[in-house]
Amino acid sequence: MKKPISRRGFVGAVAAAPAAAAVVTNGKPALLGGAPIRSEKFPGWPMVRDNDERALVDVLRSGKWNRNNGGVAKRFEESWARLLGVKHSLATANGTSALIATLGAMGIGPGDEVIVPPYTFVATINAVLLHHALPVFGDTDLETFQIDPRSIPNVITNRTAMILPVHMGGSAANLDAILEIGKARKLPVVEDACQAHFGEWRGRKLGTLAAAGCFSFQASKNLNSGEGGAIVTDDGDLMERCSSFHNNGRGADAGGFGYVRNGANLRITEFQAALLLSQMTRTQEQSRQRDLNAAHLTKRFNEIAGVTPARLENGCTRSAWHLYMFRYSKEAFDGLSRATFLKAMAAEGIPCSRGYVPLNKEPLIEATLSSRGFRAIYPERRLKEWRERNRCAQNDRLCEEAVWLTQTMLLGSKEDMDQIADAIVRIKSHAAALRSLDARG
Ligand SMILES: *Cc1c(COP(=O)(O)O)cnc(C)c1O
Repeated sequence: MKKPISRRGFVGAVAAAPAAAAVVTNGKPALLGGAPIRSEKFPGWPMVRDNDERALVDVLRSGKWNRNNGGVAKRFEESWARLLGVKHSLATANGTSALIATLGAMGIGPGDEVIVPPYTFVATINAVLLHHALPVFGDTDLETFQIDPRSIPNVITNRTAMILPVHMGGSAANLDAILEIGKARKLPVVEDACQAHFGEWRGRKLGTLAAAGCFSFQASKNLNSGEGGAIVTDDGDLMERCSSFHNNGRGADAGGFGYVRNGANLRITEFQAALLLSQMTRTQEQSRQRDLNAAHLTKRFNEIAGVTPARLENGCTRSAWHLYMFRYSKEAFDGLSRATFLKAMAAEGIPCSRGYVPLNKEPLIEATLSSRGFRAIYPERRLKEWRERNRCAQNDRLCEEAVWLTQTMLLGSKEDMDQIADAIVRIKSHAAALRSLDARG
């Protein structure tokens, strides 16, 4: 795809459209005292409309704030299931509780191993650890930022009880390969689709292809009710167990005191559900907007050597674009560090982040493994084995090179996207001068 192209040639090609482009991209970087490429803010989040206010006030005035006496959560669940093309949907307090309830309902417990990617939000592994199971890390595919299916068989043992892939950034993990491994090794697969609202794998909605899928509606997510989550599945028995788990272990007669299993209160409120319902139409429009902008960004990025957008897996027919992720190669930028590149972008009015640090090395894991409960469950020998296996070389490298743009930036205009690319071109053409700032930290 990527044609080698000289900077002069590239700037020339871009300048063919607006004559000012070359001035913009050649101008002095803001970090060195030039005028920033943009001064306006990117679209804010959340976006509030009149119908959100009405939806909230309706619940408020109804006096039915809890799902047991209201009907809004139920309506949201029906709507979410219909939009995703799945039989059952259960709204939860948040995405973490969707994961906890699903793993609980599927019987994940002490002694089990759950295969997870190391490139994900901490909640993916917290859900595993809270059930006193061990998260076992596959490695990341450097090109796609997703769990590398080739790394999964290497970490399967006779204790493996589940594969829990994440659709990172809203783009699909390789579901063909992962579901195939699950089938061959008789392991259930659960999708962490917490970033993947309306993303697709071969035309089917993410979250609906495995045994179950979990979503988050936390404030930063593409569908947002402050906090919120959902579990979806075609399996009626599993849904019954999830529902029970999230309702303090009550049996199907939810109103009563018939407790049939250990559980927790992970229920959504009617207020959250009302906000989710009122945003349903707009959420789909917004995903189309992100799609268009992401395609334009990718086109521009492909013309700049040294910034490589995360490649979509072949079956990923649509990304939710929760994040626009790319790799920054400092070799192509005269050795300019990623940290200074990020500072230079921020100075141009384009905030980006370096994204995750290696989750498999977070102190929280050692702290949990050495806790009294875990030591009671796992013999030292097993924890030693776990530590020896815990290596993710590709992921370590990715965490050094990754850069993220957030989903709200993708709700801007096409010109906004051009400014992002222009800022990169400008920084690149002054990379040697900017590098002097590396040393000063
Ligand atoms: C946001 C997120 C979660 C957790 O969702 P909350 O609603 O914040 O609890 C889990 N997994 C991933 C990949 C996420 O991005």
